[in-house]
Amino acid sequence: MILLKANEELKNIFGRMLKTMDANVMWTGSIVVLNNFLILSGNVRSMIFNFDKGKVITNVIELPNKEEDMEPVADNQTLTNVLNMTLYAFGKWGVIQGLKVEKDYSQLNALFYAILKDMKIIPGFRDDNFRFYRENIQITYEEVIQAAIEEGKRKPEEIKEEKKEQTSEEKGLGLWHKLQWKVEKKSFQRGEVGEYEKKASRLGNNFYISNYQCPECGRKLYMAVYPQGKEFPIETEEGRVYLARSYTCDNCNLFYTPRPGKLLREGESYAMKFGGDRDAYEDYRELLGSQAERTSNCNFNEFASERGKHALLSIEEAGADLEHMKEEELQNLEEKIEDGFFPLMKAEPYLEKIKDLLRKKAEEKELKKKPKQEEKISVPRKQEEISVPEKKEEIFTPEREEEKAARESVLEASDPKNQDGKKKSLFPKKNLEDRKQKEWISGEKPSILKREIGKSSPEEKKGTQNLEEDFEEEISGSNLSIKEKYDARMRMLDRMSLWQVRRLREQIQSDERLDWVDKEKYEKLTKQAVYRKGEEEARKKAEYCRNRPYGTVKRAIEEISQMECPKLIQEEILKTLGEIKRKRGQEEAADLIAKMPETMTRNQYRTFREKLDQYDEEDISVYKEVLESSRRLAEKREIAGMLKRAARSDRNGLMRMLKQLKEDGFLPEQAEPAIKEITGRVRAMDEKVIEKICPNIMSMTFDEAAAAYEKIEGGAFLPEIKTDTLEMIDKRLTKIKMDECGLLVEKLKEALEGKINDTERLHFYEVRKVMRGDWNPRESELVARALNTYATERDRYEYPILVCDSSGRQNGADGFILTPDHIFYNSLFSSEMIPIRSVTGVEGNTGLLNKGIYLKRGNGKRTKIPGGIPAKELKIFAEILEEFVSYLQEKPESRSIAYLSKEEHKVKCCYRCGFTYRGGNVCPKCGNQANH
Ligand SMILES: [Zn+2]
Ligand SMILES: [Zn+2]
Repeated sequence: MILLKANEELKNIFGRMLKTMDANVMWTGSIVVLNNFLILSGNVRSMIFNFDKGKVITNVIELPNKEEDMEPVADNQTLTNVLNMTLYAFGKWGVIQGLKVEKDYSQLNALFYAILKDMKIIPGFRDDNFRFYRENIQITYEEVIQAAIEEGKRKPEEIKEEKKEQTSEEKGLGLWHKLQWKVEKKSFQRGEVGEYEKKASRLGNNFYISNYQCPECGRKLYMAVYPQGKEFPIETEEGRVYLARSYTCDNCNLFYTPRPGKLLREGESYAMKFGGDRDAYEDYRELLGSQAERTSNCNFNEFASERGKHALLSIEEAGADLEHMKEEELQNLEEKIEDGFFPLMKAEPYLEKIKDLLRKKAEEKELKKKPKQEEKISVPRKQEEISVPEKKEEIFTPEREEEKAARESVLEASDPKNQDGKKKSLFPKKNLEDRKQKEWISGEKPSILKREIGKSSPEEKKGTQNLEEDFEEEISGSNLSIKEKYDARMRMLDRMSLWQVRRLREQIQSDERLDWVDKEKYEKLTKQAVYRKGEEEARKKAEYCRNRPYGTVKRAIEEISQMECPKLIQEEILKTLGEIKRKRGQEEAADLIAKMPETMTRNQYRTFREKLDQYDEEDISVYKEVLESSRRLAEKREIAGMLKRAARSDRNGLMRMLKQLKEDGFLPEQAEPAIKEITGRVRAMDEKVIEKICPNIMSMTFDEAAAAYEKIEGGAFLPEIKTDTLEMIDKRLTKIKMDECGLLVEKLKEALEGKINDTERLHFYEVRKVMRGDWNPRESELVARALNTYATERDRYEYPILVCDSSGRQNGADGFILTPDHIFYNSLFSSEMIPIRSVTGVEGNTGLLNKGIYLKRGNGKRTKIPGGIPAKELKIFAEILEEFVSYLQEKPESRSIAYLSKEEHKVKCCYRCGFTYRGGNVCPKCGNQANH
């Protein structure tokens, strides 16, 4: 059993689910996972998800709830994802009320596969269960959770939430990028690449691991080499350059290449960075890799202007005089060999020799230094390399097996099946008691009573013989008159009516002056009389209804079966009457159907149906069938008439017909086609109107779509069309703009990192957290205040990137807001909405009188915006902001409204880099695969 403590995200998601399910579970926030069960542990009732059966139930179970036994989920994203799978799976099965999962099973399996693949677990999600496999062996959900816990510990610092979300969902459009490599001075460390590493780490796309380390994160860079004559052209700040080789860091989403004539180690390079935009990075890597080969190229990178002018040396020429080369020359040659300047087969022997020579030279140096006692020991690079811990080896802890065993023993002790068993054994007990009670009420009681009477009667008989004798002597005269009276009555029984006999019988029973012997005697006599009279009356009744209608016969049968008369005779009479009743029923039903009009309305049908139902006790299926077929005809005629009218009806008329067809008692199989046809007419009408409002959703501009949204929202349309269309528009707009906002935030954050220390006043808009509903409430409140105070004019889908708060109370009321399109600001003196395109520069002024951030505008204006940035960081902040604003201005033409609203483009403009080209969907400059 695994005990988990939910993080905020899970609390939120599962909490909302419990709310929509309206479940009677007070969830404590702890999650118990056991075999194939996931249990949301509640104060009284808990909610149990069964992955093996696809069912959800709530039940009262005792679960461990010690805080110290709980494993916090915290920021383990893998674990969070694995837990969230529950909602997708059970939502798809339709057992979570109020949650609908649109994706089909294969899409969901793909999604689950993406979540589980790092743990080498394969999902098997079907319509009846959800199973998991590792190395072809089925494992429990609990084991999956355990693997996710370990996976989370394995990669603690890889904050790739956002990236993962993107790869598991559809490919986003990403940010725009100016595909121009920038000059950068960076020093590149070199390390050894082990044999294992060489084989194990492959990036694909013709990129192979190199000795260089990424200057940003320290991981190994991967290198691609282009064959001679097929060098890859790029644009740089210094003009066009042909690449003989390029390097990339898979972790930082960036590329490096040395400046022409240089090696990477020499520190003069070009860089192309994609920051958080993984899609753009991967597309570009595919493009760069597609031209590369596993080959050697003895060229350096070259400027386009100098292409082909350098003399090329072969390895034989370059390595002809190794013994006399200086240390630096040897190092250069070593690097050139390692960087694929020469065919590896030929260069290998030279490489060994060079390494030997370099080692010797290093040792000589050491010897020279030691006598001088200088403490300045340059640490050999190899050792540095060794001291870097290999993360991958830390995955498996030796304790794992033991832990598992311990877990299993706990598991046995508290197996849910056992608990279930206890519960079940309770139920039968209860049932047993129930049954006893029932027996007592109905059958058992009389039988017990009978037994008791039988037991006591022989004793009584013994005693009563004596009593009788005593009794007769004692009373003699006094009681005689009463007995005589009753005896006289007995002689008159035949002349009495049934009712009178019954009265007399009651009287005798309650007369206390009579002893039980007399009572018994009279009872016998009266009973016989009742039977005689009963028989007489039953026969009379039977005779009477021989020629009466069905209803009368039915009533007589009921009465006779209640009468007191000899059983055999009663049965005989009832049998005869039953026969008569059956015959009468048949005759009358036949009569009724014969009177049925040839064409009848549905109202007439209802009357006939009610009448026919009287004979339900008889077999009248034939007549029913006749009546039903007549009904079908009636309905058919009515529906046909309706459809005829439908051709000329307006929307309201059609809606009325739909209501009638659905609620007016038509046979469903008859009404269904008509409902379909009329719904189709309504849909066609609605679609026509919607078509007019928004002709092509996918190519609508934001303004158009937003306007359309409001029109449709307020209009009368079939609910499914309305929500579908609205959802499509809203989804498209929200997705595009949210993705863009999220990426822009990352980009700006990255630019500010390490340069601005005082970030108290800076509030980034965390769009994903906002959508998930788990954004820090204080941040959320402040940003909402700012947006509602001075940025109310922004577009519906214009999300903020940064809110810079300058208010005295730190509540968001003053400051500035940066969005992809505007800078809004608000201060004591003024407030304004400034389009990004009009900004020509940003200045941080530290002068005593004019301290602050100033925006320079195209019209020559200088506007001071409030920001609350401390003076010492004003300058650098303004610089970064200026750079970011100029990036926002680089937005390619392809993202403009005019371009987006056209459906087809002969000359394509790349959505990512703005490069224009003809033919194909893949941009030849940046590799973007999503141009339409
Ligand atoms: Zn890196
Ligand atoms: Zn492009």
